[in-house]
Amino acid sequence: MSFFNKFLFLWSHYSYAPDQYKEYINRLFINNLSTLREISKIVAIVIICFTAFPIFYEKDYINALFYLLFAVIALVLSYYTNYKMQTTVVSNRFIYIFITLFYVNIMSFGIYLNIFSVQERPASVFFSFLICALLMFVNPPQFNLALTLSAMIVFIITSLCFKENSDAAVYDIICTVLAGIISLYFTWQITKLRFGLEISTTILEEERNKYLDQSTIDELTKLKNRRDFMHTFQRYLTNYRSFDNWLCIAICDIDFFKNYNDHYGHPMGDACLRSVAGVLNSLMDILGVYAARVGGEEFALLWFEKDVSHVDEVLTYISKSIRELEIPHEKSKVSQYVSISIGVYIEHCGVSSETKILYDLADKALYAAKGSGRNCAVVTGNGIEQYKIPRNV
Ligand code: GH3
Ligand code: MG
Ligand code: MG
Repeated sequence: MSFFNKFLFLWSHYSYAPDQYKEYINRLFINNLSTLREISKIVAIVIICFTAFPIFYEKDYINALFYLLFAVIALVLSYYTNYKMQTTVVSNRFIYIFITLFYVNIMSFGIYLNIFSVQERPASVFFSFLICALLMFVNPPQFNLALTLSAMIVFIITSLCFKENSDAAVYDIICTVLAGIISLYFTWQITKLRFGLEISTTILEEERNKYLDQSTIDELTKLKNRRDFMHTFQRYLTNYRSFDNWLCIAICDIDFFKNYNDHYGHPMGDACLRSVAGVLNSLMDILGVYAARVGGEEFALLWFEKDVSHVDEVLTYISKSIRELEIPHEKSKVSQYVSISIGVYIEHCGVSSETKILYDLADKALYAAKGSGRNCAVVTGNGIEQYKIPRNV
């Protein structure tokens, strides 16, 4: 494969489906972060050693203070990252801020060295290498490429503009370019290694997902099963987007389904379940509503809402779609067609972490819907007074 093709191949690695891509980047960043944490510790130690240089050779305490300041910044960043990684899930925003801060820290130190330091001081050479070595650990590669190139350009420009001795400037430029090439080469190698691992992991994950699918899909209806529902529910409680304000849990139960089975027979009952499930399955694409079969003729739905007033529309759409299947149900006391009752509980995102409590509250609402005549929805929630969306016959 040519270099260019490899690059394209690498690039295409980033043209994942959005959530796959996000997951990949997340993983990459977490690994990256632990490397950065280690590196910032080393940088701090090296910079502290550096403070000795101006103190003992030039009695330049201001320079020494600068070195010390950067050492402290690197140390604080290192410990803050450490703390963050241990206490919470690190968000991408934090990591971006961290990398930017880190980068600004190194860059300003490099500029400072070029502008203020004495010409032939080996510091700039040493730091060119150090910086490029650090940049090797920054991922993803496009980010690294941008950082390395911009760092090189800034060093070269400041060197050309501020070094009085042109030999020193040339010396600095050669070192910077060399360091940049070394950094990019190693970045490339590291990325290739990581990429290879990533591909094997992806293959393994695909295999795993295949088996996982089999254990998370309900055989009869092809909807997600109770087990998947419980996992998804737990995930929805913590992983919501910043513009999601409410989490809605709905439990749907087919009305007089025992009568349906008794009258039409079990196979027809199964076919009915499949038709209802078909409608619920399509909700994800239409409304972003997740659906699972959690019991015999019971289904659970989960979705986020920005505005709570939209819930009624979703519920009306679901009831209407099932009504429009027009599955005859002679033994139903509420409609000539198969109908469902829905119990809904709405909670503020991030407030509760108890799936069982929320599920029971939605179940209670379902009980109320059954009690108030069936073929309707009863909605309640945190700070929302219980109300009913009447039947549609
Ligand atoms: P309600 O309106 O109060 O919900 O009444 P219901 O008759 O629907 O409720 P009930 O819980 O008494 O009956 C549920 C019935 O669902 C009992 C069982 O025959 C049927 N059922 C459960 N699982 C399946 C299945 O996999 N296939 C078929 N065909 N029927 C099922
Ligand atoms: Mg039931
Ligand atoms: Mg029922």
